[in-house]
Amino acid sequence: MLTACKKDLKPSSGVEEFSEATRSDNPVAQAASDPYVSNEVLVRFVEGTSETGRANALARIGGNVQEKVLTNAMKQVGAEGFYVVRTPLAVLMAIDKMKGVEGVASIEPNYVYTHDAASNDTYYLNNQLWGMYGGGTNQYGCDADAAWTAGHTGSSSVYVGIIDEGAKFDHEDLSGNIKNPGEFGKTAGVDDDGNGYIDDIYGWDFAGNDKTTYDGTGDDHGTHVAGTIGALGGNGKGVAGVNWNVTMISAKFLGANGGTTANAVKAVDYITDLKTRRGLNIVATNNSWGGGGYSQALYDAIERANQAGILFIAAAGNGNQGGKAINIDSRPSYPASYNNSNIISVAAISSNGAIASFSNYGTISVDLGAPGVGIYSTLPSGYGSYSGTSMATPHVTGAAALYKSTHAAATAVDIKSAILGSVTPTASLNGKTATGGRLNVSGF
Ligand code: CA
Repeated sequence: MLTACKKDLKPSSGVEEFSEATRSDNPVAQAASDPYVSNEVLVRFVEGTSETGRANALARIGGNVQEKVLTNAMKQVGAEGFYVVRTPLAVLMAIDKMKGVEGVASIEPNYVYTHDAASNDTYYLNNQLWGMYGGGTNQYGCDADAAWTAGHTGSSSVYVGIIDEGAKFDHEDLSGNIKNPGEFGKTAGVDDDGNGYIDDIYGWDFAGNDKTTYDGTGDDHGTHVAGTIGALGGNGKGVAGVNWNVTMISAKFLGANGGTTANAVKAVDYITDLKTRRGLNIVATNNSWGGGGYSQALYDAIERANQAGILFIAAAGNGNQGGKAINIDSRPSYPASYNNSNIISVAAISSNGAIASFSNYGTISVDLGAPGVGIYSTLPSGYGSYSGTSMATPHVTGAAALYKSTHAAATAVDIKSAILGSVTPTASLNGKTATGGRLNVSGF
């Protein structure tokens, strides 16, 4: 499990830095107790507030604007955007000083999110892909096998966004299934699809703010998630994803020490914009990460995705900092606990049908269970088994894409209904999730 970071940003730099050098300067020990970037806040002003009014408000906290976040998706809906502001004050004190000040619409911490993989463990050759099956000793899997047998193995014309680390796009079992068609095979050095990102061939890296979405073996979590959604099937190699064919786009915002709210918002909006303005048939994003508290900025970004008809499929999370599972109805875990209607929140089960000991739950905030213990998938080094609600979530994202491939006219609402309406009742999930069941894609 990665821990959150305290990024040591230089107040003088105009652009957010998240370089390897910065990371190594900030040992992991910093983090867990401090789930947001220190001396940094996100500020949104009331529309029409004058420059002087903004400056006066920021002066109350000695604020220094590092960056204005105004994404294409925000412009589309006439949203104001927000500022990433450095302050010499402690974050909570800065928030206290700015709350209620004229012209300030919202102020919040720049939270740090981490991925929701619990552990990696030895995989069992005989049950490598138990999550994909639905009979015999693998009866608690999602039964993608039945859909495959019916000839339903996905379609490259269905898209999903992977909001995570990067993924090894040229892995032998992923190659061809990760790309942005508006840039893939087009002119180098040119923003071919006009989305403001030059050469986002496989997606964009919002942590490093560059086109290199895959940065090496540290991108294991994102690579693993991608394999469960869409590793090549029937090629005689490695594993098979829920979809053998699908097109995945990387919106990387998690680096070695996690990722921030500001970058999560940019990542979510990047995918939304590829649908609303570039016309890609994007059905869902996979969000196997969490942390921090309630963020209005992130809520708003998820809502923009909702308006664009994109499901936001989120890991329920792996307990609190001690690793003990919690009820996220009473102790929210974000983003799973937001109430946007496009969210599907996922708990993890093991191959014997039990809810994983680490898996968060909640009959309001968690929708269903899916395979999340001992899940074999792609890794930078080849293949391997990981556990976590991070691993359960991409089974459901894969399900959304698979359903869309056989129901071309299905809306996000239809797809969510299909997923939640087809669960198999499961004792361990009864009283722990809204549906009381586990993912079942046999009829997709
Ligand atoms: Ca581009």
